[in-house]
Amino acid sequence: MQPKLAADSMLGGLAKWLRLLGLDTYYLRHGPKKPLPDRILLTRRSNRPHQPRLHGWLEIINLSSNDTKSQLRESVQRLGLNKEDARPLSRCNTCNRLLEKVSKDDVLGRVPEFVFSYHNEFSLCPGCGRVYWPGTHHGRMSAVIDGLWDEAS
Ligand SMILES: [Zn+2]
Repeated sequence: MQPKLAADSMLGGLAKWLRLLGLDTYYLRHGPKKPLPDRILLTRRSNRPHQPRLHGWLEIINLSSNDTKSQLRESVQRLGLNKEDARPLSRCNTCNRLLEKVSKDDVLGRVPEFVFSYHNEFSLCPGCGRVYWPGTHHGRMSAVIDGLWDEAS
């Protein structure tokens, strides 16, 4: 089962990557002002002195890694996610909405011509209107996703 997540303000890069894996991830641009009892909070806040104690979240995971890729690996491990839990290209990495499959005709004029002629499967974000296709992040993302679980084992 996929957990519902919330990434704290200092974890914007991590939020994008979690969404690329297909995970429902809120990005808390202004920090965790109000707890969301059905979401797991990912934060680095508890490392800082003089921070008010956070509570009211489903769970709070305090990450120790500094860079985005290590934070991603740490999150996947701490959440106990398997490679099968990842659903790449199912969610918009900008606004977290689930993507909708659309026909090729729907994206005519909305993607570059070479993309239109080489691809037949397209998805659309109903939130921001961004069009995705299997080549969008494929090479780089596959490499990162494979690496996540190879190095974790
Ligand atoms: Zn979007």
